[in-house]
Amino acid sequence: MLYEDLNQIVTSLKEAKQGTYKLEKSRCALFFDNIHAFPKNVELESILTFVGEATGKFIKSVTPSPESVSYRQHVSFIELPDDNYKPRVFHPESGYFYTSYYDYATPIDQPIEKKFITRHRLEKKNPEMAVSEVKKPIIYYIDPGCPEPIKTALVEGGKWWSQAFEAAGFKNAFDVRELPAGAHPLDVRYNMIQWVHRSTRGWSYGSSITDPRTGEIIKGHVSLGSLRVRQDFMIAQGIASPYKDDDENSVIMTKMAIDRLHQLSAHEIGHTIGLAHNFAASTNDRSSVMDYPHPYITLDASGKPDFSHAYDDKIGAWDKRTIMYGYSVFKDAADEKVGLEKIILDNHSLGLRFLTDQDARSAGSASPVNHLWDSGADPLSELDRILKVREYAMSQFGLNTIPKGTPVSELEKIFVPVYFMHRYQAEAVSKLIGGLEYNYAVKGFGEITPLRPVEKSIQDKALTSMLNLLTEKNLAIPENIKGWLYPPAFGYGRSGESFSTGASPAFDPLKVYEMASGQLVELLLQPERMARLSNEGRLSAYLKNISESLLNNAENDLIRQSANTAFVSRLLTMTINESTSHFIKAEIFKSLNEYKSRVKKMVKRNKESAFLQYVVKLLDMDSDEISQIKFPSIPTLPPGAPIGSCSLD
Ligand SMILES: [Zn+2]
Repeated sequence: MLYEDLNQIVTSLKEAKQGTYKLEKSRCALFFDNIHAFPKNVELESILTFVGEATGKFIKSVTPSPESVSYRQHVSFIELPDDNYKPRVFHPESGYFYTSYYDYATPIDQPIEKKFITRHRLEKKNPEMAVSEVKKPIIYYIDPGCPEPIKTALVEGGKWWSQAFEAAGFKNAFDVRELPAGAHPLDVRYNMIQWVHRSTRGWSYGSSITDPRTGEIIKGHVSLGSLRVRQDFMIAQGIASPYKDDDENSVIMTKMAIDRLHQLSAHEIGHTIGLAHNFAASTNDRSSVMDYPHPYITLDASGKPDFSHAYDDKIGAWDKRTIMYGYSVFKDAADEKVGLEKIILDNHSLGLRFLTDQDARSAGSASPVNHLWDSGADPLSELDRILKVREYAMSQFGLNTIPKGTPVSELEKIFVPVYFMHRYQAEAVSKLIGGLEYNYAVKGFGEITPLRPVEKSIQDKALTSMLNLLTEKNLAIPENIKGWLYPPAFGYGRSGESFSTGASPAFDPLKVYEMASGQLVELLLQPERMARLSNEGRLSAYLKNISESLLNNAENDLIRQSANTAFVSRLLTMTINESTSHFIKAEIFKSLNEYKSRVKKMVKRNKESAFLQYVVKLLDMDSDEISQIKFPSIPTLPPGAPIGSCSLD
């Protein structure tokens, strides 16, 4: 069994277009260093060698000989816990992950699928007391190999959870310690926080080994990528440009990166104690560490950046409530039912919200409050605020951004997060358009109001805000910055984190404009957003607003021009897309016809504009030509998330 491809590596590589490989059993062996027997688990590991041909770049980037790749496969046999654990029922508003199974003996009038939250077992020494010591605390152990000051940050951040357990009535219930000498990270009795190295940016993971019968977490296991702390440092560096007189001046940036690690540690541990993301928390007074926080950098009275509130320094109000739901001790089943219901109802009264990945990750999603990497209760004013910080950063950007000894060409990498500082907040603004006010309402748990769209006046403001962004005034790269964007120095190069360029070795501003305007136009024209607007009978007016605004002064504005070509190409593509409904196609054709007549009038006034002639050419295509032409795709934005984190639960 240990020499079988249990993780289906061959299939995964093939599906990811990374190569055709097969397992070479004569080149497989046991890996004795990671074969262990502990009191509650047996760990087995083997080295599997796959031979074949790499067709993608991933394998080539991490191995000297892509034609044969060895991989370590780990298998765990873990003792299931005793029967003394009582599962806790799942509620969509509880904030927890769940485990489920079908009980076919369920009476016909009750749900056949049984859902229980995932959580650790935690018992009070004195269950009758409101606050009690616990029989066995939940302890997480940190990888002793993790370097300082990172190790201390991870320990301190992880310990924030003790605030939540205390609020729920558990004394000394939660702690984070260094893994003691002699203990092994693979021993299932130790919840672990590992510090791992990667080839490129990657997620951090908070995952758990869970009893599939009950949802009881047997072991929490957090893996934090060592590389990603550097992204936060770079964001701060690009804003502060601190190296005018002092090359050692990295205190502010380091502090911000370390502050983020506190938060990241709490976040990933949060997954391993059972919790799902709450992306509605940053619009709800930073109520949870289970959101993805954008660094909240402000400008002080003198106009200088203030990094002191970039990240929160404590557990959130929502986090305390989730621990109450998951871990509170009740005297019997009836008491538990009433108690849990009260917790959910009180969450509503406290104004706390919970929405998770399914309602946030897609750019076409509908919630106006549930976004990744955003800040503040009002996406519109926050976008304006971020644009001011961005403007400040741009005004300072240059040789003072890097310390002595750094090739000037490295400035381009730091310019990526500065230039795209608005990208996530703009996405939050776009979600107001065609947005819906909703939650995971359950009958019997408080007042339920009918679903309603985001107020029209707010949707209009959001559209105006997005369209205002799409001008040279906001998105052009100032000449003083272009002068510092050198081709890569010898020994240095662009990476997957850099802007792509069609003008190699030079930086390519026009390509960046296509990325920046393309991102915003794509947000405006997400198929789901358009479908919702069509359902509200507002799509035609919406498309007309966009096209009129984009054509305004387009001949003289390069950002407007790339926004127009993105707008036209996207709509033309939708006209031949089989998943676009007839209703929507009809509105698109109407919009394109109106757009075309406006452009033709503009051509008469300005016969020299290559841009206008090009747009007319695009609009004159019939469906056969549209299906044959390869529109230049919108260049992909460099990855920009401040620091990756995600859950495998
Ligand atoms: Zn996460």
